[in-house]
Amino acid sequence: MHKKSRKFATLAIREGHHQTPEQEHSEAIFPTSSYTFANAEEAAAKFSGDIAGNIYSRFNNPTVRYFEERLAALEEGESCVATSSGMSAILATMMGLLQQGDEIVCSKSIFGTTTNLFNNYLTKFGIKFTFVDLTDLEAWETAITNKTRLLFAETPSNPLTEIVDIKALSQIAHRNDALLVIDNCFCTPALQKPLTLGADIVVHSATKYIDGQGRCIGGAVVGDKELVGNQIFGVLRSAGMTMSPFNAWVFHKGLETLDIRMSAHSQNASTLAHWLDQQESIEQVYYPGLTSHPQHELALQQQSDFGGIVSFAVNGGKEASWNVMNHCELLSITANLGDTKTTITHPASTTHGRLSAEERASANITDGLIRVAVGLEHIDDIIGDFKTGLKS
Ligand SMILES: *Cc1c(COP(=O)(O)O)cnc(C)c1O
Repeated sequence: MHKKSRKFATLAIREGHHQTPEQEHSEAIFPTSSYTFANAEEAAAKFSGDIAGNIYSRFNNPTVRYFEERLAALEEGESCVATSSGMSAILATMMGLLQQGDEIVCSKSIFGTTTNLFNNYLTKFGIKFTFVDLTDLEAWETAITNKTRLLFAETPSNPLTEIVDIKALSQIAHRNDALLVIDNCFCTPALQKPLTLGADIVVHSATKYIDGQGRCIGGAVVGDKELVGNQIFGVLRSAGMTMSPFNAWVFHKGLETLDIRMSAHSQNASTLAHWLDQQESIEQVYYPGLTSHPQHELALQQQSDFGGIVSFAVNGGKEASWNVMNHCELLSITANLGDTKTTITHPASTTHGRLSAEERASANITDGLIRVAVGLEHIDDIIGDFKTGLKS
């Protein structure tokens, strides 16, 4: 069977699989900071790049490489660079591709820390950001100037699960000589492959669904050999936002079950969203799988399933939403997502708490809003816990 014809679930288990002479079946971990050379000649040749091989674990480690090979295959990218966190994946991308004076057009609905990284730090180095509505393609095009070097978006967005047409956005980027970067954290390649839709670069917080059990912090960048394998890898080599071999091993094993986990998360989330939609005390439910979702049709085309994130707004503002959260007995109040354990978050006072009241209002992050990252507990128990919470 030719490798190219292998299916996603198979690649997730068999790509990046390498054995040592011990013939272990599960991949080995290589916790080593450096590697020895047979002689001075070999050391010189490896340092100069004349021959390939391991030098130092800031930029080469077999366990990390196995994870990179596997994720690159799943995203259908040529090259992957693993990083110490999702944030450092975004930082390395920006450091690798931008210079002073460059401009970025960015979705308003992105992870709060990403907004902080852009506004508080990258602006110090002369990078300019313009923020636009994720779903408004005209606004993206209008915001582009002759200095725009890249477009940055998350889809579906956090916490309201808005969706942008990746193919259309990539066409806007390319006709303006800009690159499109997509944060694919919410869908993972199991549900959506931005590179096959025209995006140039995918960034990940591996911390979320790639781990899948809430254990490690990590990230990755995937794309072509020149941009990722050369330019962004170069940043990692010099700046050192390196993934540890242990974390790489956890993520590598996490990928083996990504396909079945994402379909189970999606199934639970869909059942919960439909149930929430029928409760009288709930104002609105945000889930791409509901026909009432404004981009439901686009989600059907662009994604193979609707994912594990559901948000809903209760009547009665903050008092009511906190009441619901505090009366849930099973579900965990925590900001992480992508875990087997269902997590609930109040965005207005946590992940989006640093935004001003006006910024939150314009982004529709109301005080009654609760975000649920639906886990893999039995759906009857998840719904049962919300019944208890909502009764309060
Ligand atoms: C969590 C998250 C990040 C940041 O990842 P870390 O691993 O926490 O650094 C970036 N983007 C999205 C969409 C996230 O959810």
